[in-house]
Amino acid sequence: MSNTPNHQKVVLVGDGAVGSSFAFAMAQQGIAEEFVVVDVIKERTQGDALDLEDATPFTSPKKIYSGEYSDCKDADLVVITAGAPQKPGETRLDLVNKNLKILSTIVKPIVDSGFNGIFLVAANPVDILTYATWKFSGFPKEKVIGSGISLDTARLRVALGKKFNISPASVDAYILGEHGDSEFAGYSAATIGTKPLLEIAKEEGVSTDDLAKIEDEVRNKAYEIINKKGATFYGVATAMTRISKAILRDENAVLPVSAYMDGQYDGLKDIYIGTPAVINGSGLARVIESPLNADEKQKMAASAKTLKKVLNDGLANLEK
Ligand code: NAD
Repeated sequence: MSNTPNHQKVVLVGDGAVGSSFAFAMAQQGIAEEFVVVDVIKERTQGDALDLEDATPFTSPKKIYSGEYSDCKDADLVVITAGAPQKPGETRLDLVNKNLKILSTIVKPIVDSGFNGIFLVAANPVDILTYATWKFSGFPKEKVIGSGISLDTARLRVALGKKFNISPASVDAYILGEHGDSEFAGYSAATIGTKPLLEIAKEEGVSTDDLAKIEDEVRNKAYEIINKKGATFYGVATAMTRISKAILRDENAVLPVSAYMDGQYDGLKDIYIGTPAVINGSGLARVIESPLNADEKQKMAASAKTLKKVLNDGLANLEK
């Protein structure tokens, strides 16, 4: 525990491709004064901490070290990226049994440490693992957030930015639903500079088929990257850094995440799924329910149904 009120501590669990990229992005952006790296491979966390601290003279002073679950006791944020990644051809949902098992060994010692901060989960299938983190921890739903559709939304903004020759940061469009194959683009509420995206598309001769193709490419971009380089990590790591910053700086920022549903989207309940939400120092302040047209409503319901089945099966398998 530090004497300074603005000293913030983050513990990363899972120091693989995604976790170490997140650690690097946090160091580059000078977020959190203390950063602990935990993994089952101790040599790796030690090596990574030594490597990462060498970035600090050029960025911001920061205490970075390899640690244990007991280090979570006074952390503000614990970020979970531990778990098997997709192999070529594997879906995110295929990872559920393996990664639920890993997660079940992680959350308990974190809670036992006395941790009372916020969980941010990115390991896949992220909507399921975020729900499981909430269940295993017994924490209030506001304090357990998944990276969810943040990466997919970034991918959509990149693709639309290219299509309309606009900075991706100026595209206000979201991917919604599962972070995975049942996700969909919420085009009907998307805007650029307050103008509906569908109107701009019509004016610029971008057809519904073109937009559907973009949505499909976004949905499959992870497979493309995994086939070419084995894993995806920079995009998600930067999205996680953005969410972490919104938490640690109490921003009330609206961001794409995986959030607990309490009746939103036509009565979705007891599930984590991708939606815009307000993120601040207390975690998830509130869900912003994106207005959907009839087709999108169906896609949201179908995505939730898929997730619910995998969630129930996964939790049942865990108890066997
Ligand atoms: P990786 O194999 O490079 O790293 C996984 C790390 O987890 C390894 O260092 C491993 O030692 C560690 N680990 C395994 N079991 C552990 C345990 N019990 N305790 C602590 N650490 C443990 O994989 P990666 O590419 O970094 O991917 C990590 C996860 O993130 C995967 O589930 C992947 O699918 C997911 N991912 C999510 C997104 C997203 O948008 N949410 C994007 C990319 C990857």
